[in-house]
This record gives sequence, structure tokens and C-alpha cells, in this order.
Amino acid sequence: MLKKTLLFVLVVLLLLVCVLFVKTYTTESKQLRTSGERKTFSIRYDALQHLQSAIRIPTVSYDGHINTDTAGFLAVHRLFDSVYPLTTQRLEKTVINSFSLIYRWKGKSSAAKPSILYAHLDVVPIETVNKSEWTHAPFSGDTAEGMVWGRGTLDDKGSAIAMLESTEALLKKGFTPENDIYLVFGHDEEIGGNLGAGEVAKFFLSKGIKTRFNLDEGGMCTSKMVPFVDKPVMLIGTAEKGYMTLNISVKIKGGHSSKPEKETSTGVLVDALQKINAHPFPAQLSPVLADFVDYVGPEMKMPARLLFTNRWLFAPIIIKAYQNVGGEGNAVTRTTSSITILEAGVKDNLIPGEAKAKVNFRILTGQTCVGVLKEIKDVVNDERVVIEVAENSFDPSPITSTSTFGFKTTQAVCGEVFPDVLVSPFLMIGGTDSKHFEKVSESLIRCMPVRMSKEQLRTIHGVNERIGIHDFMEMIAFYEQMMKHL
Ligand SMILES: [Zn+2]
Repeated sequence: MLKKTLLFVLVVLLLLVCVLFVKTYTTESKQLRTSGERKTFSIRYDALQHLQSAIRIPTVSYDGHINTDTAGFLAVHRLFDSVYPLTTQRLEKTVINSFSLIYRWKGKSSAAKPSILYAHLDVVPIETVNKSEWTHAPFSGDTAEGMVWGRGTLDDKGSAIAMLESTEALLKKGFTPENDIYLVFGHDEEIGGNLGAGEVAKFFLSKGIKTRFNLDEGGMCTSKMVPFVDKPVMLIGTAEKGYMTLNISVKIKGGHSSKPEKETSTGVLVDALQKINAHPFPAQLSPVLADFVDYVGPEMKMPARLLFTNRWLFAPIIIKAYQNVGGEGNAVTRTTSSITILEAGVKDNLIPGEAKAKVNFRILTGQTCVGVLKEIKDVVNDERVVIEVAENSFDPSPITSTSTFGFKTTQAVCGEVFPDVLVSPFLMIGGTDSKHFEKVSESLIRCMPVRMSKEQLRTIHGVNERIGIHDFMEMIAFYEQMMKHL
């Protein structure tokens, strides 16, 4: 009997191994057929100068009341008017809320809905603490080591300038797009985008304009960042995590620290925060991560290929692997929480009457702000702790299907301009202005068509932000090709 059972188990195992290997080697690639060779584009020095000029104008978004670099944005507008004369003459320009710009490029027909190419013009401030670490001053726009240096080169003035360069070049050639194209430049993405992109979206809705495609910043062309894949991968953001901050506070009468009562506001708050920290949200292979696995899996080397092409069996192992990466890897698998602000007390010998904290949540597709709030209230389960949702919270975005015009066109243009690169859907763990356009557009795509090393990726919102000159030329070529598809 035992022998028979053993034999049965062996046969089943053998069958399983066969199924796994068959699936590994027969799962079809989702990539387009391309030459595989990287293309080279000659350097357009005028384009380079325009980027440098834009970088040299600080357009910083600050938190707080006076948060807009008024003079900076107006200077950028003047720069656009002067260096892009054809665009200025032939496209219909609308200024929204003084600083955001809409350019309408009328197409030959209006058979299909228009598309929006989007970038934001504002940048994050320079931190005083690491200002001295910048090799080239943050607003220098210097060129060195084959790069243009400065705040905004990657995030996101590089895209804005590349779009305008493409437009100007195509206008010079007498090109007219098939359908309407809107170039839109927001001015406050780094502080939520309500007054820029938010108002632009309202403008589109008030005019009854719906788009079939919005292309915004997001994933980029990464090298050596996806393990077991040799080729660079263009990450095409098809969804964005939700964002919610909870204001958590405890009020208990304070007093002299020499005679503390059993319970203090600070003590109760710390307990509540510990409970939240000890309660990670469940990890899962969300639909976008599953898409990523399906696009990248067939291109991987063994043994990763075996796992990724058989996620029906190995999903738990894949999730575990992501979590082991920590930080970003963990963030794509679950809703995360971070205690970002703690506030209590004014003097070391005085027990504060109130203690407050802010906890920021990034919510995974499939969950909602309301659901996370309820779960946290249940976890804390303490009447003394007041938990409220802060302003500017939003649910995870809908997922843009890989069968939409937006995704397919982005993939096609990548194939034409970046033939050596793989593409994959991707979950954005950070926010973009795309969230404001959910009611405007049928397909929101978040992708910045630029090659970026791991090191460069860290310079976004950090020190020594810079873009490769050749990479910038590729970006211009990308938008030019994109416009021909629209
Ligand atoms: Zn950005």
C-alpha cells in the first residue's frame, strides 16, 4: 500500500514538473517584435539650451500658504513663447489659474477623441541640509559628463521641454496630427495638483471634452533593476496607489511631570501607534503586479522564469521575494503605513494635555480610504484616541487595461524609439497628476520615456538630479513619434 502511495506521489510530482516546464517554455512573449538594437539620435543643441534655460528658472512648490513661485512660472511662460514661436502662433493657448498651460493642437479631423500629453512645471525645494552635496548648483542647468544637471531635469521639466521640442519640430515640417492633441503643463503637482491639474481637468469637463489617452510622468526606462532580466525595461504605469493621511490625537489633562497619572496623552498615543505598526496590511499579488509578472516573466532567465510564468502556483513565493526587497518591493504588494509627524509637549517637565500624530497610508488597488480607516479604528480600538482623515486623501486609481489605446500606443512607440527595451505594466507607488483626470480620460498612462540608472532614480527629489543628453534626445524622438500616432 505504502509503495503504491509513494509511486502515486512520484507520478504526480513528475507530472507537475512537466506542466511547469511546458508552461515556462511555451508562455508567449507579450513584447512586440523589434530589431533589438538601440537607436541613436543626433544631438539637437538648441533643444539642449532650451532645457538648460528652463532648469535655470526656479519654479518651486512649497508647502504652506505662499507656495507658488509666481515670477518663476511667468518666466517659464515667456521662455516658451520666445523659443517655441510656431507652437505659440499655431496652437491655441489657455492659461488656467495664472500658471498652468493648455495648448490645443487642432487635428485634421475629430474622428477620434483627443489625447493629452501632460507634464508638470513645478519642482520640489532644495534641502538646506544637503545643498553642499550638489556637484553642480541645483539651478545651474550645467552640462557635464554627458548630462544636464539640475532640479527638474527628470522631474518633470525634461518631459515638458521634450514635448515642446517635438511639437515645434513637427510644425516646422508642416505636420498636422490626425486628431486633436493637447499639451498640458500643470504648476503644482508637487503639492497635490489641485489648483493646476485639478482645475485643468474641470476645464476639460466643463467643455465636454473627453480624451482617449492621457500620458503623464510615471514609470521610466530602468536598467538592471528587474532581476534576471538583461534588457532595460520601460515601466508603463497603469495604476496608482491611493493616498490617505490620518490625524490621530489624544487629549488627557496634563500636569507636572513629577506626579504623572497612570495615563498620559503621549502614552496612549504611543500605544495606538504601536498597534498600527504591529498590523501590516495583507500582502497580495495585485492585478497590476500580476500584469507585470506576465509581461516580464517570459523574458527572464531561469530559475526566475519558471516562477514568473507559473504564478498560478508560485504567487506566494513571488510576493515573498518582493517583500524581501523591502521599501519599494514591499510597497507594490500591500497598503503601507508610515508615521510621518509626531507632535506633543512644550517643556521637559510638563506632561502635555494633547499628543498628535499623522500617519500616511498608501493604499493598494482593491482597497479604499474608508476601508483602511475602519480597519485602523478596529486595530486601535480605544475611545480616547481620535482618528480623522486629513484633506487630500484619495482612493487608488482605476487600472488602465493593457488593451486600451493608451497602453497599446505607448508600447508601439516604445518599440519604434527604444527597440532594445522591454515594456511592462507597472503600479505607481507615488502619486502623479493623473489622478485628476480619471473622469476626463479613457486611459491614463504614467510613463516618462527616459533611460535612468538606479543612481539617477535616487536623485529625483534628492541631490544631483540630472538627465543624460542622449536620453533627452531619445525622449524628444519618443514624443514626436507619439504625436504621429495620435
Ligand atoms: Zn513629478
